[in-house]
Amino acid sequence: MLNIDLHSHSCQSDGVLPPAAVAARAQGNGVDVWALTDHDETSGLDEAATAARVLGMRFVPGVEISVTFCDKTIHIVGLGIDAAQPTLCAGLAAARRSRFERAHEIARRLAACGIDGAFEGALRHVDNPDLIGRVHFARFLLEQGHCKNLQHAFDRYLKDGRPAFVPVQWVGLAQALGWIHAAGGKAVIAHPGRYKYTPAQRNALFDAFKDLGGQGIEVVTGSHTPTQYQQYARLAAFYGFEASRGSDFHAPGVGRADLGNMPALPEGLTPIWHDLF
Ligand code: AMP
Ligand code: MN
Ligand code: MN
Ligand code: MN
Repeated sequence: MLNIDLHSHSCQSDGVLPPAAVAARAQGNGVDVWALTDHDETSGLDEAATAARVLGMRFVPGVEISVTFCDKTIHIVGLGIDAAQPTLCAGLAAARRSRFERAHEIARRLAACGIDGAFEGALRHVDNPDLIGRVHFARFLLEQGHCKNLQHAFDRYLKDGRPAFVPVQWVGLAQALGWIHAAGGKAVIAHPGRYKYTPAQRNALFDAFKDLGGQGIEVVTGSHTPTQYQQYARLAAFYGFEASRGSDFHAPGVGRADLGNMPALPEGLTPIWHDLF
Protein backbone atom coordinates (compact mmCIF):
# COMPACT_ATOMS: atom_id res chain seq x y z
CA MET A 1 0.00 0.00 0.00
CA LEU A 2 1.20 3.52 -0.77
CA ASN A 3 2.41 5.65 2.11
CA ILE A 4 0.64 8.98 1.71
CA ASP A 5 1.32 12.03 3.89
CA LEU A 6 -0.72 15.09 2.96
CA HIS A 7 0.09 17.52 5.79
CA SER A 8 3.54 18.90 6.62
CA HIS A 9 5.44 22.14 7.27
CA SER A 10 8.73 23.66 6.23
CA CYS A 11 10.65 26.69 7.50
CA GLN A 12 8.61 28.77 5.04
CA SER A 13 6.02 28.73 7.86
CA ASP A 14 6.59 27.33 11.36
CA GLY A 15 8.51 24.14 10.56
CA VAL A 16 12.28 24.03 10.91
CA LEU A 17 13.52 22.27 7.74
CA PRO A 18 13.74 23.82 4.27
CA PRO A 19 11.25 22.34 1.80
CA ALA A 20 13.89 20.18 0.09
CA ALA A 21 14.95 18.74 3.46
CA VAL A 22 11.34 17.91 4.32
CA ALA A 23 11.12 16.12 0.96
CA ALA A 24 14.28 14.13 1.69
CA ARG A 25 13.04 13.17 5.14
CA ALA A 26 9.66 12.10 3.76
CA GLN A 27 11.34 9.92 1.16
CA GLY A 28 13.70 8.49 3.78
CA ASN A 29 10.66 7.55 5.86
CA GLY A 30 9.12 5.70 2.92
CA VAL A 31 6.55 8.27 1.83
CA ASP A 32 5.31 7.72 -1.76
CA VAL A 33 3.00 10.72 -2.06
CA TRP A 34 3.74 13.89 -0.13
CA ALA A 35 2.10 17.30 0.33
CA LEU A 36 3.75 20.39 1.76
CA THR A 37 1.04 22.47 3.50
CA ASP A 38 2.63 25.53 5.07
CA HIS A 39 0.43 27.92 7.08
CA ASP A 40 -1.02 30.69 4.87
CA GLU A 41 1.98 30.39 2.54
CA THR A 42 2.89 28.70 -0.73
CA SER A 43 6.43 30.02 -1.26
CA GLY A 44 7.99 26.63 -0.47
CA LEU A 45 6.06 24.68 -3.09
CA ASP A 46 8.42 25.15 -6.06
CA GLU A 47 11.43 23.93 -4.09
CA ALA A 48 9.36 21.08 -2.65
CA ALA A 49 8.09 20.00 -6.08
CA THR A 50 11.57 20.00 -7.58
CA ALA A 51 13.03 18.04 -4.67
CA ALA A 52 10.19 15.51 -4.81
CA ARG A 53 10.69 15.02 -8.56
CA VAL A 54 14.43 14.40 -8.13
CA LEU A 55 13.65 11.87 -5.36
CA GLY A 56 11.00 10.11 -7.45
CA MET A 57 8.24 10.93 -4.97
CA ARG A 58 4.80 12.13 -6.05
CA PHE A 59 4.06 15.65 -4.86
CA VAL A 60 0.79 17.41 -4.05
CA PRO A 61 1.01 21.22 -3.72
CA GLY A 62 -0.84 22.29 -0.60
CA VAL A 63 -1.52 25.01 1.94
CA GLU A 64 -3.01 25.17 5.46
CA ILE A 65 -5.32 28.17 5.72
CA SER A 66 -6.17 29.85 9.05
CA VAL A 67 -9.94 30.32 9.29
CA THR A 68 -12.29 31.74 11.92
CA PHE A 69 -15.47 29.72 12.52
CA CYS A 70 -17.76 30.20 15.56
CA ASP A 71 -15.18 32.63 17.01
CA LYS A 72 -12.42 30.01 17.04
CA THR A 73 -9.45 29.40 14.76
CA ILE A 74 -9.57 26.29 12.62
CA HIS A 75 -7.32 25.09 9.83
CA ILE A 76 -8.44 24.17 6.33
CA VAL A 77 -5.94 22.33 4.15
CA GLY A 78 -6.08 22.92 0.40
CA LEU A 79 -4.65 20.07 -1.70
CA GLY A 80 -3.73 20.09 -5.37
CA ILE A 81 -3.85 23.87 -5.58
CA ASP A 82 -2.51 26.13 -8.29
CA ALA A 83 -0.46 28.43 -6.05
CA ALA A 84 -0.35 31.12 -8.71
CA GLN A 85 -4.13 31.61 -8.65
CA PRO A 86 -4.59 35.36 -7.93
CA THR A 87 -7.54 35.14 -5.46
CA LEU A 88 -5.71 32.55 -3.38
CA CYS A 89 -2.46 34.55 -3.51
CA ALA A 90 -4.17 37.78 -2.41
CA GLY A 91 -6.06 36.04 0.39
CA LEU A 92 -2.95 34.36 1.78
CA ALA A 93 -0.97 37.62 1.56
CA ALA A 94 -3.67 39.32 3.66
CA ALA A 95 -3.48 36.52 6.25
CA ARG A 96 0.29 36.98 6.47
CA ARG A 97 -0.17 40.73 7.09
CA SER A 98 -2.64 39.93 9.91
CA ARG A 99 0.04 37.69 11.37
CA PHE A 100 2.49 40.61 11.56
CA GLU A 101 -0.10 42.88 13.20
CA ARG A 102 -0.79 40.12 15.72
CA ALA A 103 2.94 39.63 16.30
CA HIS A 104 3.40 43.27 17.34
CA GLU A 105 0.50 42.92 19.80
CA ILE A 106 1.88 39.62 21.16
CA ALA A 107 5.18 41.43 21.78
CA ARG A 108 3.38 44.28 23.60
CA ARG A 109 1.58 41.79 25.82
CA LEU A 110 4.79 39.90 26.56
CA ALA A 111 6.42 43.25 27.46
CA ALA A 112 3.57 43.77 29.93
CA CYS A 113 4.63 40.43 31.45
CA GLY A 114 8.17 41.78 31.78
CA ILE A 115 9.56 40.15 28.64
CA ASP A 116 11.08 42.81 26.39
CA GLY A 117 12.27 42.57 22.79
CA ALA A 118 9.96 39.72 21.84
CA PHE A 119 9.14 40.98 18.34
CA GLU A 120 12.80 41.23 17.34
CA GLY A 121 13.50 38.05 19.29
CA ALA A 122 10.82 36.07 17.46
CA LEU A 123 12.01 37.50 14.13
CA ARG A 124 15.43 35.93 14.75
CA HIS A 125 13.67 32.54 14.57
CA VAL A 126 11.83 33.40 11.36
CA ASP A 127 13.26 32.02 8.12
CA ASN A 128 10.67 33.42 5.72
CA PRO A 129 10.45 37.20 6.24
CA ASP A 130 6.82 37.10 5.04
CA LEU A 131 5.54 34.66 7.67
CA ILE A 132 5.56 34.94 11.45
CA GLY A 133 3.66 32.69 13.83
CA ARG A 134 3.28 31.90 17.48
CA VAL A 135 5.85 29.11 17.21
CA HIS A 136 8.53 31.73 16.48
CA PHE A 137 7.60 33.45 19.75
CA ALA A 138 7.69 30.07 21.51
CA ARG A 139 11.23 29.49 20.22
CA PHE A 140 12.27 32.95 21.48
CA LEU A 141 10.69 32.31 24.91
CA LEU A 142 12.49 28.96 25.14
CA GLU A 143 15.82 30.49 24.10
CA GLN A 144 15.43 33.17 26.80
CA GLY A 145 14.62 30.61 29.51
CA HIS A 146 11.01 31.72 30.03
CA CYS A 147 9.74 28.17 29.53
CA LYS A 148 11.11 24.63 29.52
CA ASN A 149 9.88 23.59 26.06
CA LEU A 150 7.70 24.85 23.20
CA GLN A 151 4.51 23.30 24.60
CA HIS A 152 5.16 25.09 27.88
CA ALA A 153 5.53 28.43 26.02
CA PHE A 154 2.01 27.94 24.62
CA ASP A 155 0.61 26.78 27.95
CA ARG A 156 2.15 29.68 29.84
CA TYR A 157 1.87 32.59 27.40
CA LEU A 158 0.58 31.95 23.88
CA LYS A 159 -2.53 29.81 23.86
CA ASP A 160 -6.12 30.99 24.19
CA GLY A 161 -6.72 32.29 27.71
CA ARG A 162 -3.04 33.04 28.43
CA PRO A 163 -1.61 36.58 28.76
CA ALA A 164 0.00 36.89 25.30
CA PHE A 165 -2.84 35.29 23.34
CA VAL A 166 -4.08 37.73 20.70
CA PRO A 167 -7.24 36.69 18.86
CA VAL A 168 -7.19 37.15 15.09
CA GLN A 169 -10.19 37.51 12.83
CA TRP A 170 -9.05 35.14 10.08
CA VAL A 171 -10.93 34.65 6.84
CA GLY A 172 -14.33 32.91 6.96
CA LEU A 173 -14.97 29.33 5.88
CA ALA A 174 -16.77 30.37 2.68
CA GLN A 175 -13.89 32.58 1.51
CA ALA A 176 -11.25 29.96 2.31
CA LEU A 177 -13.11 27.31 0.34
CA GLY A 178 -13.66 29.84 -2.43
CA TRP A 179 -9.89 30.39 -2.71
CA ILE A 180 -9.10 26.67 -2.68
CA HIS A 181 -11.73 25.86 -5.26
CA ALA A 182 -10.74 28.82 -7.47
CA ALA A 183 -7.22 27.38 -7.37
CA GLY A 184 -8.51 23.97 -8.48
CA GLY A 185 -7.84 22.28 -5.12
CA LYS A 186 -9.72 20.11 -2.68
CA ALA A 187 -10.58 21.44 0.79
CA VAL A 188 -9.92 19.32 3.87
CA ILE A 189 -10.69 20.11 7.53
CA ALA A 190 -7.36 19.69 9.32
CA HIS A 191 -7.18 17.77 12.62
CA PRO A 192 -10.90 18.18 13.48
CA GLY A 193 -10.36 16.52 16.86
CA ARG A 194 -8.29 19.46 18.06
CA TYR A 195 -10.98 22.13 18.08
CA LYS A 196 -12.61 23.06 21.37
CA TYR A 197 -16.13 23.03 19.94
CA THR A 198 -19.32 21.80 21.51
CA PRO A 199 -20.91 18.92 19.58
CA ALA A 200 -23.44 21.42 18.14
CA GLN A 201 -20.66 23.70 16.89
CA ARG A 202 -18.77 20.72 15.45
CA ASN A 203 -21.90 19.68 13.55
CA ALA A 204 -22.39 23.28 12.38
CA LEU A 205 -18.84 23.26 11.01
CA PHE A 206 -19.29 19.96 9.19
CA ASP A 207 -22.69 21.03 7.79
CA ALA A 208 -21.36 24.40 6.58
CA PHE A 209 -18.27 22.75 5.10
CA LYS A 210 -20.44 20.22 3.28
CA ASP A 211 -22.78 22.95 1.95
CA LEU A 212 -19.77 24.91 0.65
CA GLY A 213 -18.48 21.92 -1.30
CA GLY A 214 -15.74 20.91 1.14
CA GLN A 215 -14.42 17.49 0.15
CA GLY A 216 -12.57 15.92 3.04
CA ILE A 217 -11.54 15.72 6.67
CA GLU A 218 -8.33 14.48 8.22
CA VAL A 219 -8.98 11.16 9.90
CA VAL A 220 -5.46 9.89 10.58
CA THR A 221 -3.26 12.79 11.71
CA GLY A 222 -0.47 13.29 14.21
CA SER A 223 -2.99 15.35 16.21
CA HIS A 224 -5.49 12.50 16.70
CA THR A 225 -5.49 9.60 19.11
CA PRO A 226 -6.36 6.10 17.83
CA THR A 227 -9.85 6.56 19.35
CA GLN A 228 -10.22 9.74 17.29
CA TYR A 229 -9.18 7.87 14.09
CA GLN A 230 -12.30 5.73 14.58
CA GLN A 231 -14.51 8.64 15.65
CA TYR A 232 -13.63 10.77 12.60
CA ALA A 233 -13.79 7.75 10.28
CA ARG A 234 -17.44 7.35 11.36
CA LEU A 235 -18.10 11.07 10.85
CA ALA A 236 -16.46 11.03 7.40
CA ALA A 237 -18.71 8.13 6.39
CA PHE A 238 -21.78 9.83 7.87
CA TYR A 239 -21.19 13.13 6.05
CA GLY A 240 -19.87 11.59 2.86
CA PHE A 241 -16.48 13.26 3.25
CA GLU A 242 -13.32 11.83 1.77
CA ALA A 243 -10.65 10.96 4.31
CA SER A 244 -7.13 12.34 4.54
CA ARG A 245 -3.96 11.20 6.27
CA GLY A 246 -1.17 13.56 7.31
CA SER A 247 1.52 13.76 9.95
CA ASP A 248 1.47 17.57 10.47
CA PHE A 249 5.24 17.25 10.71
CA HIS A 250 6.98 20.46 11.89
CA ALA A 251 10.42 19.40 13.13
CA PRO A 252 12.41 16.23 13.86
CA GLY A 253 11.50 14.86 17.29
CA VAL A 254 8.62 17.33 17.80
CA GLY A 255 4.96 16.32 17.71
CA ARG A 256 3.31 12.92 17.68
CA ALA A 257 4.05 11.76 14.15
CA ASP A 258 7.06 12.00 11.88
CA LEU A 259 6.56 12.15 8.10
CA GLY A 260 4.66 9.09 6.84
CA ASN A 261 4.74 7.55 10.27
CA MET A 262 1.07 6.84 11.05
CA PRO A 263 -1.36 3.95 10.66
CA ALA A 264 -3.25 3.49 7.40
CA LEU A 265 -6.74 4.97 7.02
CA PRO A 266 -9.47 2.79 8.54
CA GLU A 267 -11.22 0.50 6.04
CA GLY A 268 -14.25 1.59 4.06
CA LEU A 269 -13.40 5.26 3.56
CA THR A 270 -12.83 7.06 0.26
CA PRO A 271 -9.31 8.47 0.41
CA ILE A 272 -8.95 12.14 -0.55
CA TRP A 273 -6.21 11.15 -3.03
CA HIS A 274 -8.47 8.80 -5.05
CA ASP A 275 -8.66 11.34 -7.89
CA LEU A 276 -5.76 13.66 -7.15
CA PHE A 277 -3.55 12.12 -9.85
P1 AMP B 1 -0.33 30.33 14.59
O1 AMP B 1 -0.91 29.84 13.30
O2 AMP B 1 0.82 31.27 14.39
O3 AMP B 1 -1.36 30.86 15.54
O4 AMP B 1 0.33 29.08 15.29
C1 AMP B 1 -0.31 27.83 15.28
C2 AMP B 1 0.76 26.77 15.36
O5 AMP B 1 1.31 26.78 16.65
C3 AMP B 1 0.25 25.37 15.13
O6 AMP B 1 0.26 25.04 13.77
C4 AMP B 1 1.28 24.58 15.86
O7 AMP B 1 2.44 24.47 15.05
C5 AMP B 1 1.62 25.45 17.03
N1 AMP B 1 0.84 25.21 18.25
C6 AMP B 1 -0.43 25.58 18.48
N2 AMP B 1 -0.81 25.24 19.72
C7 AMP B 1 0.25 24.64 20.28
C8 AMP B 1 0.49 24.08 21.56
N3 AMP B 1 -0.44 24.07 22.52
N4 AMP B 1 1.70 23.55 21.77
C9 AMP B 1 2.64 23.57 20.82
N5 AMP B 1 2.49 24.10 19.61
C10 AMP B 1 1.29 24.63 19.34
MN1 MN C 1 2.19 24.96 12.85
MN1 MN D 1 -3.03 23.00 11.94
MN1 MN E 1 -0.29 21.91 10.19
